[in-house]
Amino acid sequence: MSSPDVGQLEEDAVVAAMRSGWIAPLGPDVDAFERELAQRVGVGHGVALSSGTAALHLGLLTLGVKPGDVVVTSTMTFAATTNAIVYTGAEPYFVDADPSTGNMDPALLRETLTTLRAAGENVAAIVPVDLLGKAVDYTSILASANEFGVPVLADAAESLGATHNGKAAGSFGAASIVSFNGNKIMTTSGGGMLLTDDADFAKHVRYLATQARQPVVHYEHTDIGYNYRMSNLLAALGRAQLNRLDDMIAKRREMRELYKQLFAAAEGVTVFGADGDEDDNVWLTSILVDDDAAGWQPQDLAAVLADDSIESRPLWKPMHLQPVFAGTRGAISGASEKLFRTGLTLPSGSALTPAERARVKEAISAFLAR
Ligand SMILES: *Cc1c(COP(=O)(O)O)cnc(C)c1O
Repeated sequence: MSSPDVGQLEEDAVVAAMRSGWIAPLGPDVDAFERELAQRVGVGHGVALSSGTAALHLGLLTLGVKPGDVVVTSTMTFAATTNAIVYTGAEPYFVDADPSTGNMDPALLRETLTTLRAAGENVAAIVPVDLLGKAVDYTSILASANEFGVPVLADAAESLGATHNGKAAGSFGAASIVSFNGNKIMTTSGGGMLLTDDADFAKHVRYLATQARQPVVHYEHTDIGYNYRMSNLLAALGRAQLNRLDDMIAKRREMRELYKQLFAAAEGVTVFGADGDEDDNVWLTSILVDDDAAGWQPQDLAAVLADDSIESRPLWKPMHLQPVFAGTRGAISGASEKLFRTGLTLPSGSALTPAERARVKEAISAFLAR
């Protein structure tokens, strides 16, 4: 569906980093990777970390999120977003999705902030998620956040390369996080980065990520720290991938266009989020199936593809439906449940070969022609 897209350039970069002697664990590739990615996104500072989840955790701690606080977040996301909130001891509060994008519904967010404020609860942060590579409506969300005086930590794990009103995903709010997990738009095999314009914010994240060491020669600690930094070898891989980011986005966009053509005449099927997708990084392409109109369900196509060893999956199962978050409060409209029920994510990766693309195309065409 979205496998790592690495080749000779990446291999050469990792070997060069290894031969340079900068193995353990920081080094010049980490510094350069932070600089290059921050520049690409248009922010002042980047802190390269071991994962996107680590970046979320340290971003929340740096905002001062603590036990007893409430953090408002999207229910339509991967568990990592909510898990990081729980690590801080704060309580997640879910907001449902805009049905056309799956992203946090700005009107529902405003209602939620109003309700929580009236109840005297301490909302310490808002964590919106850019779903499948489409930036959330930052204009509306930041307006509400400013009105209520709540900072935004943007989960841009899936949206590196996307824009909102011409501004890059990863550049909104107090800080943003991106992920370089193996299935994301670019990878360091595993890794993430916190991006911010605020030098003190970046400095505090860097401090917490390196075991919270005081700047003295003997090891002295006044805070609990973490071992969350990215290694130099992986940063070298990331720099090579960043050079190819636009190419990889272009390849994913070709897959999106292929699916638009394939399903154009299919009754009851829409390509999810295709409206305005020139601003997206089109990380993953999903379809929505209205089974009454289509005469089939997403699982029917998934089963046919699986018989042909072609991977497909439902959209993220919303967090408020997850057993581990049973009882967590939220403003639930039903939009994300419907997306989960009707959606199917199709092979989208930039590593797909022409032959593999052709095989996917044939399998879907044959299914639609039955
Ligand atoms: C992948 C992902 C993360 C976590 O990133 P890791 O690098 O895997 O820790 C967080 N949020 C969302 C929305 C993601 O898709």
